[in-house]
Amino acid sequence: MDSIKRLYIRYLLHYITVSKSNKKSGRNTSKPEKLVVTDKSRNLFNQVRLKHLLSIEKQNRGISKDKLLFVGTANIATYWWCAEKAYLNSRENELMFFFIYLEDRLKYSLELNLIKKVPTSEKEILSAGSDITSKDIENLLSKKSEQEDSVYFYTMSNRIRDTIDLSGKNKIIKRSKNSSNAINMNSRNAPLLQGKFDEKINAEKYPTIRWNFPLGEFVFIGIPDGITSEFVYEFKSTRNNFLKSFIKPVAETQADFYGKFFNRKEKRIQIHVLETNEVHTEQTSIDENRINNTLKGFTEIVNGSEAFPPKPWKCNACEYISLCPITPIKLRKH
Ligand code: SF4
Repeated sequence: MDSIKRLYIRYLLHYITVSKSNKKSGRNTSKPEKLVVTDKSRNLFNQVRLKHLLSIEKQNRGISKDKLLFVGTANIATYWWCAEKAYLNSRENELMFFFIYLEDRLKYSLELNLIKKVPTSEKEILSAGSDITSKDIENLLSKKSEQEDSVYFYTMSNRIRDTIDLSGKNKIIKRSKNSSNAINMNSRNAPLLQGKFDEKINAEKYPTIRWNFPLGEFVFIGIPDGITSEFVYEFKSTRNNFLKSFIKPVAETQADFYGKFFNRKEKRIQIHVLETNEVHTEQTSIDENRINNTLKGFTEIVNGSEAFPPKPWKCNACEYISLCPITPIKLRKH
């Protein structure tokens, strides 16, 4: 699928979500693009309308609109870092995962010729892609190239850009036009970007695809770092060997879920320890028990059980500390 079509789908999702709110308010809907004043207001509109679509989706599935449904596989795997964090992160990002779910289903429906054009009614939007099979996903995966030449990194504000060029021998980093705003990959504030950067430079290259999978009470969104006919691949980077022992169960869990979702028997995991510049590699069978234990524990928290607190040092750099009900650090202060 070309980038124009992808942009078109994103635009259409935006159009769909904005246009209905305008109908309600009696405003002219013939030129929705003129309603978008700033990125901020567009995001707000999108959020409101996506929330509406999400509540219809939950209603169609016979569940309460407050029940958590769409989750990210990587988020759930962090259950083994901190179960409460996995829950809070999943709650915070459900709308984003729902958006991804819609986008993928529409995108692949078009690519597979299951629909001729992007639908506009809520009913059709939500049902598009329901007939996509795992065989279809395998066929789409087989068409994917192993590695794109360049990748773009965006900050949360979407204003700053760096291009990382992997096509040359020296893996040159191209600065965006406004280089004063280029991302500082060494910034302690951007661990996720650093991880992604490290992955692009050091990870093994395999094709992959993003898709959604119903499991237990949830719909999981997942994209492994790679998929071959034998295994799913997961790459992580971490500062030192001490942290590696805590990252490893997360990487294993994530890969176990991917193995189950994409029906692969093995997982290949690599953890890059930055301090020593060593890459630790393991290839093992998918562990069904770990999947079941994670799913059971996470579901219990979603349904009201209290999570077991992690080691207190994990809370020091946690973005949820101000609203976390179980942090040992917060308890110590009271
Ligand atoms: S503050 Fe601590 S207990 Fe709470 S979510 Fe973060 S890491 Fe977990």
